[in-house]
Amino acid sequence: MTADELRSKHFATLCVHGAGEPDKETGALNPPIYQSSTFAMHTAQEGAELFSGEREGYVYTRIGNPTTAALEKEMAFLEKGEKALALASGMAAATTAVLAVASAGDSVVASNCLYGGTHKLFKDLLPRLNIEVIEVDATDPKNIKKAMKPNTKLVYLESPANPTLSLNDIEACSAIAKKHGALTLVDNTFATPYYQCPLELGADIVLHSATKYISGHGDTIAGILIGSAEFINHARGEIMRDLGGCISPFNSWLLLRGLKTLPVRVEKHSFNGMRVAKYLSFHPKIKTVWYPGLHTHPQHELAKKQMSGFGGIVAFEVKGGRKAGEKLINNVKLMTIAVSLGDVDTLIQMPSSMTHSTYSAEELKEVGIPEGLVRISVGIEHYHDILEDLSQALTKI
Ligand SMILES: *Cc1c(COP(=O)(O)O)cnc(C)c1O
Repeated sequence: MTADELRSKHFATLCVHGAGEPDKETGALNPPIYQSSTFAMHTAQEGAELFSGEREGYVYTRIGNPTTAALEKEMAFLEKGEKALALASGMAAATTAVLAVASAGDSVVASNCLYGGTHKLFKDLLPRLNIEVIEVDATDPKNIKKAMKPNTKLVYLESPANPTLSLNDIEACSAIAKKHGALTLVDNTFATPYYQCPLELGADIVLHSATKYISGHGDTIAGILIGSAEFINHARGEIMRDLGGCISPFNSWLLLRGLKTLPVRVEKHSFNGMRVAKYLSFHPKIKTVWYPGLHTHPQHELAKKQMSGFGGIVAFEVKGGRKAGEKLINNVKLMTIAVSLGDVDTLIQMPSSMTHSTYSAEELKEVGIPEGLVRISVGIEHYHDILEDLSQALTKI
C-alpha cells in the first residue's frame, strides 16, 4: 500500500500497517532490527555525497537507522505530522526540541504543571544556557498571552498534565503562540495520538515519552518528536546529532511492536481508568479525585472537546493527606509501587515525594499539587481485581 493509500485508513489500521510492507528480500513481516552502528558505502564518492546531503541513505545510527526510520514513519502517520524523530528518552526529546527552537537570550513560556523532569530542565539547565523559562498556570490561555515576550520562541504545554490531569486548551494556546511568531509544543504522553491530535488543533510539535503508552509494556525508555519536515530535519541534523540522544534500534523495534496494540490497550486503560475514578469518587475515605472523564473535573467540557477518550491515569487525595496516602500505597497487593505510567501493569506512586520531588513545597502549592496526591496508572488487569485491591488497602487507613 502506498503512503497516500495508508493515510486514508483508520488509526487502528495504521498502528498495524504503518511501519511499511514486509521486507522486500526476505518477506519478513516485521521490520528487522538493524543492530548496526555503521553502514557500508560503495565508494569514497558515495560517502562524500551521503555526508553532504546530496544522496539519501544511512551512514551512522546516531543520525539514522532503518528500524528507527520505520518507527518514525509510523509515528508521523499517527500524529498526522510530516516527519518524526525518535530519541533515547522523553527527556532527550524535550531537550532536543527546546534547543532546536530556542537559543541563549530567548524565552520559553511553559505550563507550570509538567512532568517533574521537564520542570527540572526548565528550572536548572535552561537558565544556565541563558534560556529563560516562564512557567504559568496554562489552564487559562490568558496567562500564556500575558507571559509572551518579544523573545519568546516556544510555548510548551502538557495536556493532560502530569500529575494533576489539568488540561491546556491546545487550540487557544497555539493561536496565541502563532500570533507572537512562536511555536507550540504539546507533550501528548498521557492522551496518546489515539485520543488527542495536537497538530490538528494548531500545535507545531508533539512530544512523547514513548516509555509510557507507546511502548506500553514497561520495557524500554524512549522519546519521539513529531512535526514539520523543516523542524524535524533541523532537530535531527543540528541538535540530536550534537547532543547525541539517539535511540537504539532494538528499542525502536520494541516501540513498533507496542504500537500494533496501542488502540486496544488504550481503550482498556481508559475503560478501567473510568471505573477506578468513579469508585474513588464515591468512596467515603477519598477527598478529591482528578480524572478528565468525570464531570466533576473542572475542565471536563474541554476534555470532551479536544480528546476522544480520557485515558488511564487517575489522581486523588485520601482524607488525612500524605500520611493516609502513604498508608494506602503501602497496603496495595496487586498494584506495584512504582513511577512511570502507561504500562499494562497498574502502578501507584506519590508525586510530591517521587516523580514531582523536583518541585519545591512552594511550587507544589502554587501549581495545586497536594502533598498527599496519589497517582495511579491504571493497567489492563480486570478492573474488579484493581478495585478489590484499592478497597482492601483503603480499609487499612
Ligand atoms: C515520563 C514523562 C516524560 C519523560 O520521559 P522519559 O522517557 O522518562 O525521559 C515526559 N513527559 C511526561 C508527561 C512523562 O510522563
